[in-house]
Amino acid sequence: MEESRRNELLEVAQKAVKKAYAPYSFFKVGAALLTEDGSVYSGCNIENAAYSPTICAERTALAKAVSEGHLAFTGILIVSEDGKGNTAFTSPCGVCRQTLREFCSDDFEVILSDGREFRSYTLGELLPLSFSKEDVLND
Ligand SMILES: [Zn+2]
Repeated sequence: MEESRRNELLEVAQKAVKKAYAPYSFFKVGAALLTEDGSVYSGCNIENAAYSPTICAERTALAKAVSEGHLAFTGILIVSEDGKGNTAFTSPCGVCRQTLREFCSDDFEVILSDGREFRSYTLGELLPLSFSKEDVLND
């Protein structure tokens, strides 16, 4: 991904992490999802008192984008912040990896940032031997 585009995603994710609703874990995550046509959707984690309904930043961004008609994506950038404001490289959880796989191929780029440096992976690296719609749809 181009450096200017990556920096744009970092800015969007850093704004999103400030909107995270994390009164239980105090672990805030922000994501910026890039669509194939160049649109960017932000997402933050939204916790719930019943825990299970909690949704991650990555899936929030994906739900926003899909609900606006986007089905093809190029990459996502993820940032996090703990209750003390410390940042760290945070990898998407297994549920998010599988949810991304529904819409993204193995070469989809997943960028982790601590706000200063970047680590780039492909979805195929993070979710090897994935199960996807190609396994279900036989055409
Ligand atoms: Zn997740």
